[in-house]
Amino acid sequence: MTCEHRDYQTVLAVPHDMPVIGFDSHTPATLRLWRAECPSGFDLHSFNKGDFVCMLRQKELAESISKVLYPQDNHMTGRMLRLRQFYFLASATMQCIVREHKKRFGDVRTLPEKVVLQINDLHPALAIPELIRILIDEEGLGWDDAYAMAGRVFNYTNHTVMQEALAAWPEHIFRSMLPRVYAIVAEISERFNGRLWQAFSQDREKIDQLTIIAHDEVRMANLCVAVCHRVNGVSQLHGRILKTRTFRDFYVMFPGKFTAITNGITQRRWLAAANPDLCKLINDHIGDKFLRDYSELERLKPLADKPRFLADFAEVKRRNKLRLAEQVAKQQGIVLDPDSVFDVQAKRLHEYKRQLLKVLHILFLYNGFTGDAGFALPRPVTFLFAAKASPAYWRAKSIIRLINAVAALVASHPRTRDAIRVAFLENYNVSLAERLIPAADISEQISTAGYEASGTGNMKFMLNGAVTLGTMDGANVEIFERVGQDNIFIFGAGAGEINRMETANSYRPKDLFDQNEDIRDAVSRLVDGTLPGVAADQFQDLYHSLLFGDYDRADRYFLLYDFDAYRAAFENVLAAYTDEPAWTKKGVLNTAGAGFFSADRTIEEYNRQIWGLRPV
Ligand SMILES: *Cc1c(COP(=O)(O)O)cnc(C)c1O
Repeated sequence: MTCEHRDYQTVLAVPHDMPVIGFDSHTPATLRLWRAECPSGFDLHSFNKGDFVCMLRQKELAESISKVLYPQDNHMTGRMLRLRQFYFLASATMQCIVREHKKRFGDVRTLPEKVVLQINDLHPALAIPELIRILIDEEGLGWDDAYAMAGRVFNYTNHTVMQEALAAWPEHIFRSMLPRVYAIVAEISERFNGRLWQAFSQDREKIDQLTIIAHDEVRMANLCVAVCHRVNGVSQLHGRILKTRTFRDFYVMFPGKFTAITNGITQRRWLAAANPDLCKLINDHIGDKFLRDYSELERLKPLADKPRFLADFAEVKRRNKLRLAEQVAKQQGIVLDPDSVFDVQAKRLHEYKRQLLKVLHILFLYNGFTGDAGFALPRPVTFLFAAKASPAYWRAKSIIRLINAVAALVASHPRTRDAIRVAFLENYNVSLAERLIPAADISEQISTAGYEASGTGNMKFMLNGAVTLGTMDGANVEIFERVGQDNIFIFGAGAGEINRMETANSYRPKDLFDQNEDIRDAVSRLVDGTLPGVAADQFQDLYHSLLFGDYDRADRYFLLYDFDAYRAAFENVLAAYTDEPAWTKKGVLNTAGAGFFSADRTIEEYNRQIWGLRPV
C-alpha cells in the first residue's frame, strides 16, 4: 500500500542553528531552531489569477506556525495551531535526522546504533509516529521493522502527574489535520490493544484507560509509554509515583521500562554567573575545580565550622541582598530593607505550588499584629514573590492581584509596616532569577506533596546558600536527605497522606475553617472588605475554591490542611535565623551539599541508564 497526500499545503522548515558553547569548551554543540515559511514561488496558480488575498492568507498561515511560544505551564490545550506547531517541529527534526544519518552512514537501518532520542515531556511526542511514517512511506521499510526501530531510539521523560497537563488531542482534529500520522497512531493503538487484551483480558475498564485512542482522544502519554524503550521520572519520589499511580498498570506490563533520574541545574550559570562573589569566596578556599567536578563542593563542609568563613559567607549574602534591592528600587520603585530576612517564593504561578498558602500565612501575621498587642516577630521579614501566570489562567491572575493587595495592606498599617513587607516582582524570568536567588535567605518550596515532579528552583536556592522551607515533595526529599534535618525545615502532609485523602475523598476544609480560628480569620480577609483597592467580590472565587470548591473538590491542594504546620515551621525558621552564625552554617552546608544537584550528574545518569553514549 502506498499513501498519497492531496490538497495539502507545503510549509518550509528553515533551520536556524544556535551554537551552545560549553564552559571553557572549543567544540560548541548545536541547538537547531526552526522557522516556518511559505516556499518561494508557491501557489503560482492563484497568483496568476491575481488572487493575492488567497496567496497572502496561505503565507500568513504558514508563518503563524512558529510565531508564538505557548505560555501555559503544566496545562494542555488541544488547539489546532498548537498541534500544527508540534507536528511542524517534530517533522522537521525527524526528516533532518534521517537525512543526516543516511548521508553519514548510508543505511537508514543502522539508525538505532547511532541515534538516541529523548522525548522531553509530551510536546515532541509526535516525533514517534512521524519517524515511523518516514521509515515506511519514504524509506520503504515494513511496519514491524519501522516500529521496532522507533522502540529502540525513543525514550520518554515524564514531567508532571497533573491530568490536565497530559496531552490528549481531540481525535477528530488530529485525524483531519494529520491523516497519515493519525493512521499510524491508529495502527500502533490497534496492535497495542492486542497486547492489552493479553495482559488484562478480564478488565475492559483498564484497557479503556491504557489504550492510545479512545473517547475521541489521542493520548500522547499512553503512546509514549507503549512505544518507548525507557520512561523516566525527574526525582526519586516522582519516579515512584509514576510506577504506583500515574502509569501503575503500564508498570505491571513493562516493569523494566521505568526509572527515575533526578533533575539538576548547572553550577556554571547558577553559581559562577549568578553569584560571582560567592564563586570567588569558594574559589579562594577550594579552588575552581567545582565548576567542572560537582563533587568538589563537598570540600566546603569543614569550612562550616570556621567563624571567619561564616562571616565572609554572610557578607556575600548581604551584598547580594543590597544588589537585588538596588535593582528592585530602580525597576519597580519598591524599597527593600537588606537587613530584613528575605523569604522568597519564585516559580510559575500555579495552584499546586501554593502561593496562596504563603498569602494566607501573611494574612495570619497581619491579623496577629493588628489584633494582639503582644504579637511580634524576632526579625523583620520581606516576603518576595516572583511568578508568571499563563494569560488564560484566571485564578492564577487573581492570586497575583491578591499578593499586590496584601502588599498594600501590610504597608498601610503602622504595626505591620516595619515588621513585614511584601513585594511582587514583575516579569519573573531567568535574568531576574539570577539576581533574586543569590539574595534569598529562605527558599519557599511548599507545593502539595505529590504534585511537584522535581522542581529545580529548590536546587538553585540551595546552591546559593538559602535554607529550604518546604514539603516532602519532588526533589525537596533528596535535598533533605543530603543536608539532614538540621539544615532544612520540612512541614506538612506527605505524598501518601495526601493521596489517601484524595482516594477516600475524605478531606473537609470547611471543618478546619469552622474549628480553627487562625484559619478562619486569615481566609475571611479575602472577602471581608479589609483588602484595599479591590472590589468587594474580587476574591470571592478564591474564597469559594478553598471552602466549597469547583464541582466536588474544595481546597484541592490542601492549603488549609497544611496551614498550621506551615505557620509552626515558619516560626521555627525565623527562630533559627536569630542565631546568625548557626544560620549561616546551615547556608554553607546547603551550598556544600548541592553538588548532587548538578546537571552534570543528571546527564551522567541519563547516559549510563538510557543513552549509553561514549563521553568525549
Ligand atoms: C528555575 C526556574 C523555574 C523553575 O522553578 P521551580 O521552583 O522549580 O518551579 C521557573 N522559572 C524560572 C525563571 C527559573 O529560573
